[in-house]
Amino acid sequence: MSVLILTTGGTIDKLYFDALSEYQIGDSVVDRLLKTARVALPFRVQEVLRKDSLELTDDDRRTIADTVAAAPERRIVITHGTDTMTDTAQALAGRMQDDAAGKAIVLVGALAPARFAESDASFNLGMAFATAQVAGPGVWIAMNGTIFDGTKVRKDRTVNSFVASA
Ligand code: GLU
Repeated sequence: MSVLILTTGGTIDKLYFDALSEYQIGDSVVDRLLKTARVALPFRVQEVLRKDSLELTDDDRRTIADTVAAAPERRIVITHGTDTMTDTAQALAGRMQDDAAGKAIVLVGALAPARFAESDASFNLGMAFATAQVAGPGVWIAMNGTIFDGTKVRKDRTVNSFVASA
């Protein structure tokens, strides 16, 4: 078994630049986090995009779905900004009867950058990596210690967390 991790940007990979007083997305931390955890299962990390998810377009979502469909791996983690993670989950779900059929796809992000000491990044990535190994085909979201059906979840900005929806 091998797990593919696609990176698309989002807060998980953000850097803070004092001089600019804004966050920018840096090199992905995913490879380092998995190596720090001494992950022994084979994995491959591929950068697809490097964007805040509020800037993702329909074309970007198509690119993510095309990359999932073209990948030889059937177990896939996607790191993604949390604001529009559910939109990408819906776009991917639309391909599950088609060229992404049979794949377990787990979207994950972080509410604080992995480079920050009190980040949820490594916890969330670990959950997503584990879920990708055991989940059935479909689109899942691993956030806030919970595995959600990717088509039945929303981000509740008032509490800054994901909650199940009908
Ligand atoms: N605007 C950010 C994004 O969705 C929100 C923070 C995050 O990444 O979780 O990319």
